[in-house]
Amino acid sequence: MSPVRDARDIAAAVPDPELPMVTLGDLGILRAVQQDGPDVTVTITPTYSGCPAMREINQDLRQRLGEAGYRSVTIRTELSPPWSSDWITPEGHRKLRAAGIAPPSVAAPRNPGPIPLSLTVRSRSVACPRCQSTRTSEVAAFSGTACKALYRCEECREPFEYVKEI
Ligand SMILES: [Zn+2]
Repeated sequence: MSPVRDARDIAAAVPDPELPMVTLGDLGILRAVQQDGPDVTVTITPTYSGCPAMREINQDLRQRLGEAGYRSVTIRTELSPPWSSDWITPEGHRKLRAAGIAPPSVAAPRNPGPIPLSLTVRSRSVACPRCQSTRTSEVAAFSGTACKALYRCEECREPFEYVKEI
């Protein structure tokens, strides 16, 4: 059996393990897909440092591409330039909001020096994904995973998760 579906479409449609409402394509972590007959090489850039999701993403990519008929799947990780939450597509933002999660604000410009590994909490204006109010406050810096913070809306009183900007 030879592969019939485009490898890029398959790879882009793999859901993120931690944010399953968005795909690798939506997150912008899919850097390149090189198809050579039945062989495919996928290059991805990990999101938040220390996210344990990378192993799951690798397994999902191998499984889905294998099921589509690809004979060998090579997965390369590219760390430079580092992933930024600015790479999340408008479609990704829309899906996050639809799931009640506030998408990240625009990330601060990077320092030219070494990339800081800590996710520092800056003052930011986060809009409630339900009522769009910006009268929100941070309840916890980490919510479930390191890439999300827990917020509460002061207008509708609902708690919601916020994907941190990096
Ligand atoms: Zn609200």
